[in-house]
Amino acid sequence: MQHVTRKSTCRLCGSSLLQLVLPILPSAIGDAFVSQERLQEKQQVYPLDCYLCFDCGHLQNLDVVDPEILFREYTYRTSVSLGLVEHFRNYARSVVSGLAIPKDSLVVEIGSNDGSLLKAFQAEGMRVQGIDPAREIAKIATQEGVPTIPDFFTSRIAGQIKAANGPAALFCANNVFAHIDNLSDVVTGVRTLLAPDGAFVFEVSYIVDMIDNMVFDTIYHEHVSHHALLPMETFLNRHDMTLFDVVRTGTKGGSIRAFAQPMSTGKRPKSPQLTTLMAEEERLGITKPQVYRDWFAAIESRKQDVLAYLDAAILAGKTVAAYGASTTTTTLLYHFELTSRIAFIVDDNALKHGLFSPGAHIPVLPSQELAARKPDIVVILAWIYAEPIVTRNAEFVRNGGTFLIPLPVAKTIDMHGAAALRRSE
Ligand SMILES: [Zn+2]
Repeated sequence: MQHVTRKSTCRLCGSSLLQLVLPILPSAIGDAFVSQERLQEKQQVYPLDCYLCFDCGHLQNLDVVDPEILFREYTYRTSVSLGLVEHFRNYARSVVSGLAIPKDSLVVEIGSNDGSLLKAFQAEGMRVQGIDPAREIAKIATQEGVPTIPDFFTSRIAGQIKAANGPAALFCANNVFAHIDNLSDVVTGVRTLLAPDGAFVFEVSYIVDMIDNMVFDTIYHEHVSHHALLPMETFLNRHDMTLFDVVRTGTKGGSIRAFAQPMSTGKRPKSPQLTTLMAEEERLGITKPQVYRDWFAAIESRKQDVLAYLDAAILAGKTVAAYGASTTTTTLLYHFELTSRIAFIVDDNALKHGLFSPGAHIPVLPSQELAARKPDIVVILAWIYAEPIVTRNAEFVRNGGTFLIPLPVAKTIDMHGAAALRRSE
């Protein structure tokens, strides 16, 4: 297959004892929405199977899509989202004071995007260095005063940064740790660059929350790892690093902010919340296959509920549309086998209007089209936002339309109220 490399060993420990636990169906690249002119181009689908390592318990995808395809053309600018700027200010302040980082220390961030977070660290009196492979965005960041290396972070680049700027008091990696195929080299680089009392802070989606909240649709090609603390600690230890704290954050259906330090020289004690959460992972068996087999069975049961309902409706001559055009909705469309059942998609983001969904090329229209085209059923693919979507589109329901919310438990909402589609479990 083009543009895909297939790994045969665990990304964290190198073991070849890997078992397929989540056979998520192949999908096109999740955010590769295309314009009318590109409709003739066939968009390939790539595997999304998730494997569990029997040695360290890490859940991961082994089919890796070429990062040049996934990340080089990335155009999303962080600071475009206003809420995030405020978030970064608070983040920088709390990390600097919480870890007692002295002024004029070096803060390094990978996946630094347009430098929004590093600007917040500059405001706290820090020296900063960004690294981001998206060339255009890296150039803009540098022009705006945040020096940014336009490349993927490696241990080699870590050596160069250290030679030029000295060691880092703080190394940040937010929502990029799931994206990196060669994590060993990256963490070697982090260890190289960190000062003896330095800290490594990273935010990742948390597999325990993903399971609890049924958020399987954040499994897409950019995310090759789905992290838990136990396998991460084993991995970090091998690189002379160790976790010392963790904070659960509410973003993206459940994430953690984890803190690590050099194992041989770090002096910060392990926090009680870290110990508690690691014990909770032990109790859940997060490094064992059963929890994933149960989760997959629950996902399949939702899928069967949704398909049984839709197929009966389609047979009765009803029309079906969908709500939400994003990376996660692509995973859901493909895994629930909805692509051939959906006539069109609506979305509130004007940038998506007039485009066509990745691979299946379903047209994306403004949500006002619901009133004009009057589909009988609208599947809310962006189900995390089901509540505000239903509220904003009350008229669709008043006019006789039915919303189908596929997850966490499949249910419909029509003028008579909500009804679960649950079959026996
Ligand atoms: Zn492993």
